[in-house]
Amino acid sequence: MSARARDGDPGLEEQVRELPTEPGVYLFKGADDRVLYVGKAQSLRARVRSYFVKGGDGRHQVHFLVPRIRDLEVVVTSSVKEALLLENQLIKKHRPRFNVRLRDDKNYLALRLDPTVPYPRFTETRRFQRDRAVYFGPYTSSGAMRETLSTLQRMFPLRTCSDAGLESYRRRGRPCIEHSIGRCVAPCCRLISDRDYRNLVDGAVLFLRGRSRELIGSLKRDMDDSSAREDFEVAARLRDRIDAIERTVEQQSMVSRHFVDRDVFGLARDDTHVEVQVLYVRQGTLLGGDHHAFNNVRISDEEVLASFLFQFYSSDRELPREVLVPEAIEACGALAELWSERSGRAVRLIRPQRGERRRLLEMAGRNARLALAERMRRDRSSEETARELRQLLRLERPPRRIECYDISHLSGTLHVASRVVFLDGKPDKNAYRRYKLRESPPGDDYAAMREVLGRRLATLERDPPPDLILLDGGKGHLRAVEALLADLAIEGIPLAALAKERDGAAPNPRVLRHAGSKREKLFLLGVKDPILPDPAGAAMLFLQRLRDESHRFAIRYHRELRRKAGLRSILDEIPGVGPKKRRALLRGLGSLEAVKRASEDELRALAGISSADAVRIRRFLASLAGLELGPAAPEPGGTRGSHDPVE
Ligand code: SF4
Repeated sequence: MSARARDGDPGLEEQVRELPTEPGVYLFKGADDRVLYVGKAQSLRARVRSYFVKGGDGRHQVHFLVPRIRDLEVVVTSSVKEALLLENQLIKKHRPRFNVRLRDDKNYLALRLDPTVPYPRFTETRRFQRDRAVYFGPYTSSGAMRETLSTLQRMFPLRTCSDAGLESYRRRGRPCIEHSIGRCVAPCCRLISDRDYRNLVDGAVLFLRGRSRELIGSLKRDMDDSSAREDFEVAARLRDRIDAIERTVEQQSMVSRHFVDRDVFGLARDDTHVEVQVLYVRQGTLLGGDHHAFNNVRISDEEVLASFLFQFYSSDRELPREVLVPEAIEACGALAELWSERSGRAVRLIRPQRGERRRLLEMAGRNARLALAERMRRDRSSEETARELRQLLRLERPPRRIECYDISHLSGTLHVASRVVFLDGKPDKNAYRRYKLRESPPGDDYAAMREVLGRRLATLERDPPPDLILLDGGKGHLRAVEALLADLAIEGIPLAALAKERDGAAPNPRVLRHAGSKREKLFLLGVKDPILPDPAGAAMLFLQRLRDESHRFAIRYHRELRRKAGLRSILDEIPGVGPKKRRALLRGLGSLEAVKRASEDELRALAGISSADAVRIRRFLASLAGLELGPAAPEPGGTRGSHDPVE
């Protein structure tokens, strides 16, 4: 059933009085008919009325939400459980401003293992799917995930190669280096039986599920059996594995005397900023946790938590036996029922008042408060930095969205560019872009900057302009983009360029320098001379971070292209090295690897390779390997694109 009420005709409050007392979902709408908030209720009338009662329950939303409500729609359901499911669907559909939305799981990193394929292995993924695989995570950083994977690999040396890699080594009849360094048991060459490999997989899964005790017990039994059979080699391997597991487990903290799997939630709030913390306790051991930040939250803690929990477990995330929460949740019975149905065993949603569970809850709350305090501190410092940037760059207002561009090439070849975007002081990685340069002549950084910015500015309709464009470069880059903006009749986008000072320039006594560091110069539109900002100032450090990030991103793209281009073609890329010189290099030194290792003198000694060739080849290969060559006059187009030497 659905009922609508309009303010004034016959009156929102009158309609509220007539609402059914059954469970269901309500939608509050604003003046433009957009859905502002979707909620569920055991009794629609009681719940919706609570928003309009004078002096109400003091919930956060009342001040912000109620004055904006112009229309109300309700959908009656046969149970709270049905209301929960419908509420979630409607939140996904309307994305209401006043509901909290958890980032999609695809943004999280997880380890995936498909036990049904031959010789299963762990892979990294960003998607929890309903398939035959098991997922572990989510991990909030790739560092944390790789650390887990590396620990795991030491204890359970499963294969790391792709199916194609495994097949290729199988054909060759010898395992790859992973086997020589003890990180793979080499199923490619059948150096392990299918049964033993399966045991390793089972062990790794048990370990990730926090069932180390069970795992150690089973390994000890296997070790004793092996000893009894006098298979001492296997027994020694099992002993080492048990040691490694015990050492790892020792580093994890026991937080419970009960071997129960629990997810423990904490919530902290500072006005409209909310932090939700989750701690994962498996078999009494704290395996880790992560926290989720929400801003501009105008709903109560209970509603935040209820909405969060539903979304958190709506993917194929593994459900524990117990979910501990700090707030009473209206639909807790329905939530627990849904989870129990999904996992095929009882899942309890508990709000503990005392004892061990309460202690765990306090720990989660403390962590939530710490994370929130840290976020607020970072926000304050990023506001401070934005104010400093405004002053330094002479902007009308503190910049929120900043785009930074960098050009990268290798002695004029593999010409690419990158754009990184920072929003409110933080990288907005979804907005990062990389460009393969198509029109600008190789080595011409100014034309490259013009081409990239031209492509970027052509998308202004769907990608609004930033508050600042920062170029990795000097005055020439700035002028090239200034001319482009004038040609396109685009006004109002502040522009700046940041460049390192050229080696050998006379030191400026006004700027303090660390040993070995170079000064940075900032070029602004309409300002004749470069600015020499305080290198330790927050604004300058931030600009450097932005520039370094764009450089890192461009280099990563570069590496990818190089990898795709393949090793053989590296020699084709060296300017001035044609087929004849290529043959001379390979014939004279025997292999590409030997060419890469050769010194300038060794190269020069080859027939057909001049001194200038030797210098150029050495420089090219050194830049390829990311080596520093030391001070040298920049070649036209130099290595790694970068800026013009600063005038
Ligand atoms: S040793 Fe064999 S199975 Fe293991 S990673 Fe290398 S190729 Fe793959």
